[in-house]
Amino acid sequence: MKFYSTNDKSLTTSFEEAIFKGLAKDKGLFLPQKLPQLPTSLTQSNSRLSFTEIAFQAARCFLHDEMPDNVLLELIENAFPFSAPIVELSKDLYTLELFHGPTLAFKDFGARFMASIFEFYLARRSQELTVLVATSGDTGSAVAQAFHNKPGINVVILYPSKKVSLIQEMQLTTLGGNVKAIEIEGNFDDCQRIVKEAFSDPDISSKLVLTSANSINIARLIPQSFYYISAFHQLPVNSPPIVFSVPSGNFGNLTAGIMAHLMGLPVSHFVASTNANDVVPQYLSSGIFETRPSIATISNAMDVGNPSNFARLMGLFQSSKDAICKSVSGYSVSDEETKLALKEIYEKYGYLADPHGAVGYIGLKRYINQKTNITSNIFLETAHPAKFYDTVNHSTGANVDIPERLSKLLDLQKQSYLMRPELKLLKEFLMA
Ligand SMILES: *Cc1c(COP(=O)(O)O)cnc(C)c1O
Repeated sequence: MKFYSTNDKSLTTSFEEAIFKGLAKDKGLFLPQKLPQLPTSLTQSNSRLSFTEIAFQAARCFLHDEMPDNVLLELIENAFPFSAPIVELSKDLYTLELFHGPTLAFKDFGARFMASIFEFYLARRSQELTVLVATSGDTGSAVAQAFHNKPGINVVILYPSKKVSLIQEMQLTTLGGNVKAIEIEGNFDDCQRIVKEAFSDPDISSKLVLTSANSINIARLIPQSFYYISAFHQLPVNSPPIVFSVPSGNFGNLTAGIMAHLMGLPVSHFVASTNANDVVPQYLSSGIFETRPSIATISNAMDVGNPSNFARLMGLFQSSKDAICKSVSGYSVSDEETKLALKEIYEKYGYLADPHGAVGYIGLKRYINQKTNITSNIFLETAHPAKFYDTVNHSTGANVDIPERLSKLLDLQKQSYLMRPELKLLKEFLMA
């Protein structure tokens, strides 16, 4: 299967090249030249297939010429020792829980699949790889966990000193082994700047094969389509058509859902739910895409003012606003509404959501209120509420149980390297 650049349809590459490059030469994002179709076993409901079986069959559509079935199945089993259950809150209302991975956020799906894919190609190339990432918190921990103990891969994570939460810091700094955490005396922009400088430094690139493993990599997008298919298979027999509401920031998650739909998954509609960073809902109503600096909110993993996957959405809908509006509606949700939603979901359904899921819930409600047909309504829960303990606790009055895989981190020993934000220092560290 060939992948094209969203900036130039004629610029195509193999899957292997696309994942090692991340971005196309012309800075476009990669998309499959022709979307494969899912087998009917996945598009007909109530098969009761396991998550592993669904993920395998869907991944096979993309990767059947890259690796034999038994290798792919083993890769899927290693990447996903957890699943994505739907929980029924009331008739026709569900949440799709995406936080059962090791870092309790949906980014585990993309990061772990990507890590396994890299491992597969590196073994074939007998090459070593250095994954270099700057993080403001969550992406870094999902990537670090995913690549931990992968042979032939070193991980170097830069995070801003004293600017990530204690739990996030412990997630980054306690893995050890092939994962090195560098605590930068500066802010996230400093971390990102020196990582960028390192990528364009000729001395470093002559010695190391570097990748950013960042969220626009096609290897992170593909696995995010699996749980939409899995949600469909978990619904009761003869359920009405599905509406998915996706709490969105960089729009990778929504793009993956739309890919699954265009590959044949029956979905009635998608809701793009954002916080105050509403450039996509704005586009859907005005037709004008205007990026802006990001605004800080309580659903901070979605504080994105220039969502990079917008280019992919345009690619999938041939840049037609009418086409995209037939499948997607957008709503922007304030912090105040988000807090009230946390309380409402808890009081009405006895369910503790996180602030990102709560944004998805409000977007879903707004969409349902303005239509008449009956649908199965699913909002995606992208993080465990314990990761946003204070907000959830203040909004609901409830105590959030801290899962053991978070609480046990606090007993571990932090291991990090303190560093001033200078390329020279990072370079010494990488070349040592
Ligand atoms: C990254 C993230 C999102 C946003 O996902 P996108 O694919 O960037 O739209 C939503 N919720 C949580 C918890 C996240 O970590």
